[in-house]
Amino acid sequence: MSEIPEKKPTKPVVLTCAQPTGRLHLGNYLGAVLNWGRMQQDYDCFFGIVDQHAITVRQVPAELRDNTYSCLAQYMACGLDPARSHLFAQSHVLGHTELAWILGCICPLGQLERMTQFKDKARKQESIDAGLLYYPVLMAADILLYNAELVPVGDDQKQHLELARDLAEKFNHRYSDTFKVPEPFISKVGSRIMSLQDPTAKMSKSDPNQASTVYITDRPEEIRKKIMSSVTDSGAEVRAGDDKPGVTNLLTIMSACTGRSLDVLQSEFSGKGYGDFKKAVADAVVATLDPVRLRYDDLIKDREALNKVFKAGAEQAQAVAFKTLSKVNRKVGFVERPR
Ligand code: AMP
Repeated sequence: MSEIPEKKPTKPVVLTCAQPTGRLHLGNYLGAVLNWGRMQQDYDCFFGIVDQHAITVRQVPAELRDNTYSCLAQYMACGLDPARSHLFAQSHVLGHTELAWILGCICPLGQLERMTQFKDKARKQESIDAGLLYYPVLMAADILLYNAELVPVGDDQKQHLELARDLAEKFNHRYSDTFKVPEPFISKVGSRIMSLQDPTAKMSKSDPNQASTVYITDRPEEIRKKIMSSVTDSGAEVRAGDDKPGVTNLLTIMSACTGRSLDVLQSEFSGKGYGDFKKAVADAVVATLDPVRLRYDDLIKDREALNKVFKAGAEQAQAVAFKTLSKVNRKVGFVERPR
């Protein structure tokens, strides 16, 4: 089920960034966060909560602050561990925006204007702020600041990682070898979770029909209700196939939650109806998510403890960021800061 790259002798750096926008759903958990948690054993993991990215679209300040705490608590509840990894808020670490500026000075404007995510977002807005255009440069800085070798990215971020690679190579070529060129770490099959109401579309937090999406903080009764009312397909057979997107999605979810293969599940449910099958899927999802929700409920109550995690993470990240930034400043010709 896991497609984590092979263990290497020294721990390579992996960087993952997440915007503090709302709640994580089952797709995020099974498709991404569970794997990030597993990577902590063999990799030096930096998990950045990228609040500076979040303000490229309009935010209500108090909500952004609450969401940043909530994001940290959700990731910790999912298994990201501050004792093994570096969990930090982007705005707590000086260096992200400084490096972004320097990288922006070697980044062709046309390349930013061609970014599909920029074009999509810009189309939906009446006026476009420069930050939206500059977003991929800041993302490149997030990655290069920590000399990350691997970056877990979804399909929508592949183009941005390509820019980070281009900028690393360009900087190395123009000045001298400085940055590692980061590689994408893209999750394979089995982890793409589809909407419960339209199994041809990805499960997403922006789905207007909230019955489509199971959140990691949903209570057991909400989870059961959403799964029992999920869309299935014609016929009564529990099997995976292109003609059965609804059942295939439920089988994928159950397989990811239980670690049992699709084949095993299909034979287990052969001859049984959709009702029994959905009940079993709901049980599996509740068993997976309930401990996560309970941990979250505990973590979110204690802001002091979350602040301590932010503080430690910022210190660890800052130490690396300062090193990179001093090197970069020297290479571009800035006078060393007098001590
Ligand atoms: P997003 O919620 O789009 O910011 O995505 C955060 C992470 O979760 C990325 O690595 C995505 O690829 C992954 N992800 C988002 N939605 C799904 C889904 N429905 N199924 C599997 N992975 C997902």
